[in-house]
This record gives sequence, C-alpha cells and structure tokens, in this order.
Amino acid sequence: MYYAEPVAKLINELTKLPGIGPKTAQRLAFHLLRASKEEVTKLASALLEAKDKVTYCSICYNLTDTDPCRICSNPGRDQSTICVVGDPKSVVAMERTKEFSGVYHVLHGNLSPIEGIGPDQIKVKELLKRIQENEITELILATDPNVEGEATAMYIAKLVKPLGVKVSRIAHGVPVGGDLEYADEVTLAKALINRREIG
Ligand SMILES: [Zn+2]
Repeated sequence: MYYAEPVAKLINELTKLPGIGPKTAQRLAFHLLRASKEEVTKLASALLEAKDKVTYCSICYNLTDTDPCRICSNPGRDQSTICVVGDPKSVVAMERTKEFSGVYHVLHGNLSPIEGIGPDQIKVKELLKRIQENEITELILATDPNVEGEATAMYIAKLVKPLGVKVSRIAHGVPVGGDLEYADEVTLAKALINRREIG
C-alpha cells in the first residue's frame, strides 16, 4: 500500500530475520535500494554461497564448509576432550579465549519443556554415540548459564557419568542468565580454567 510491491516484499523478508523489526527492515531496504547494483549482487551471492557451502560437521555438528570441520580434523586438537555447547556462536566464543585445545559438540538448543524441546530435539543421542565409540576422557559442559542451559548440563552429566567420563561444568563467572557469546574472552577463559567436576 505505502510501498511499491517489490519494496514491500523485501521489507517483509527482512523482518523475518532475528532482531529486525519493521523500522529496521525499512531502513535496510532503503539502504539496499540506494546501493549500487554491484554491492547488492555481492550481498545476494554471499547469502547464497554461505547457504550452499556451509553444512553441519558430521562429528561435532558445528557449521562448516569441510566435513569433518577444521577443528575435528586438526591433529593438534585433543580429540579426547569434548566441550559441549548450545550453538555455533558459543564455539566462536570459546575459540576466542584461546584456552581450549580440545574439540566441540554442538547441541543446537537447550532442553526446554515449556517450548517442547526434549532430548530428541537436540544432539544428545549423537553425543552419547560419540562418547561410546571414541576414547573420550573429559566432557566440559559449556551450555549457556541460564535456566535451560543449566538443566541441559545436568541432564547430560547424569546421562554420561555411568560411562566413566570425567564431567565438568564451566565455572560461574560467566554472567548468569546470559548467552555464552556475550561473555568477554577473559571471563570465559577463567570460567573454563575454573571448571568444576560434577557428581
Ligand atoms: Zn567438527
């Protein structure tokens, strides 16, 4: 009504992105329409290329353009220590600390009965299988320090303990109620170093 149809369509697609409300979508749309055709093409092809080339690592389920990912296939990384995180953003946060030389397991979510997310909706089965089929000595639970993240860590700790694996949880120091990705490197590195064994 207020916009030409292609503009309305563009704004509509942009509002589907996380954190983008109608006002921001409008600003982005107008920005893109002012940009050169070359710039817009670059953005469009970056979107498609990322979507085409990036998949999930078949070992750790992190986002990757090679399978296994660069961390899983790096002989310099300790394959017997797995850091369990909720999402790929947390892998980036942990890597920034430069304090962790093991490998990861990305759950892709936390347990949340309210939202109907149970163990089958996140990569728990895959984690168990990985532990059973490989020499894993330590599991570091680095799920987000909020209610769902804690519940997920406790659930996995209970599940894994009988398998004889040392299980630890990153220390508090990471702001409680937050996302791992918002913790600064120093805080997160401390939380990792001060992790405590569970059970
Ligand atoms: Zn991997």
